[in-house]
Amino acid sequence: MLSVIVPAYNERENIENTAAVLSDILRKNGTEFELMFVDDGSSDNTWELIEKLSERDSSIRGLHFSRNFGKEGAIFAGLRRCVGDCAVVIDCDLQHPPELIPEMLRLHEQGYEVVEAIKSSRGKESLMYRLFAKTFYRIMKSSSDVDLDRASDFKLMDRKVIDALNDLPERITFFRALSSWVGFKTVKVEFEVAPRNAGTTKWNFRKLLKFALNNITSFTNFPMQIVTILGTLFLLFALVMGIQSLVKYFGGQALEGFTTVNILILLSAAVIMRALGIIGYYMSKIYEEIKFRPRYIISEDTRDKKNKETKDKDRKEQDSANGKNS
Ligand code: UDP
Ligand code: MG
Repeated sequence: MLSVIVPAYNERENIENTAAVLSDILRKNGTEFELMFVDDGSSDNTWELIEKLSERDSSIRGLHFSRNFGKEGAIFAGLRRCVGDCAVVIDCDLQHPPELIPEMLRLHEQGYEVVEAIKSSRGKESLMYRLFAKTFYRIMKSSSDVDLDRASDFKLMDRKVIDALNDLPERITFFRALSSWVGFKTVKVEFEVAPRNAGTTKWNFRKLLKFALNNITSFTNFPMQIVTILGTLFLLFALVMGIQSLVKYFGGQALEGFTTVNILILLSAAVIMRALGIIGYYMSKIYEEIKFRPRYIISEDTRDKKNKETKDKDRKEQDSANGKNS
């Protein structure tokens, strides 16, 4: 069975259409599937729509977060609760073409454990966004060997990979990088990014910046190395300055040295402060990790509700049977 995991945050314009398109494609392909919408604490009626769909169609399942935890949390909640032999993660706005899923399934049957869909181009993005993304991916690649430039969250994973991801203990997660970090037999397929089906993008600059910083620090110690490099350069500089002021001192021009001293003090203070800042950042992440807070909180699961209903029915039947017997 295939589990399709769809993170959804304020996607009321998309839910019904996406569910219809996905089920249609998978039924035509003769695939047995469960469609899991993970509602990331939407403030619109996304969850009500998911509930309604899941009542009508038993292959549709919904998870509801108690608040907005972010797309990463939604993906990992889906991976944790899905029951398929493999799973596909796909965006709710159909920017990831669902027609590619049958092809991905075929590759999975051929023995590939991860099928990564990569963007053949980056689609319509603002100049600012593109610049930001480019810089971020360059840092990630140069420092951690994870090439993400055209990577997306659109992926098919075998049960083995899902279990491996579920076993990772860390809390600050970056699905796109982790899913290649775990390894396994991987194949790439290209796709063209479609324009968003309806609604607007759910990211803003602050969210993106936080996302980028989080992921860079989760994957590399590069910023710490900058401090070491800066420190070394500065030490050399200080040595030269020190010799120079000594020479000046012995030449009887000591007063001028004040400027040098001032510059030195200022600069070293700057470097130390920067170093402390970076160390502080990593420490804050250690702090985040050791809190062992859950990555998300699920407040409702349509399956639990269904199970409860059947249990209630069972109990009632049992009760009436008991009643007859006594
Ligand atoms: N999303 C989410 N939680 C968030 C932000 C986004 O679950 O806090 C989902 C959103 O519903 C969509 C997917 O992540 O299914 C991608 O979001 P979006 O299309 O806004 O991002 P973009 O395509 O612009 O990168
Ligand atoms: Mg999108």
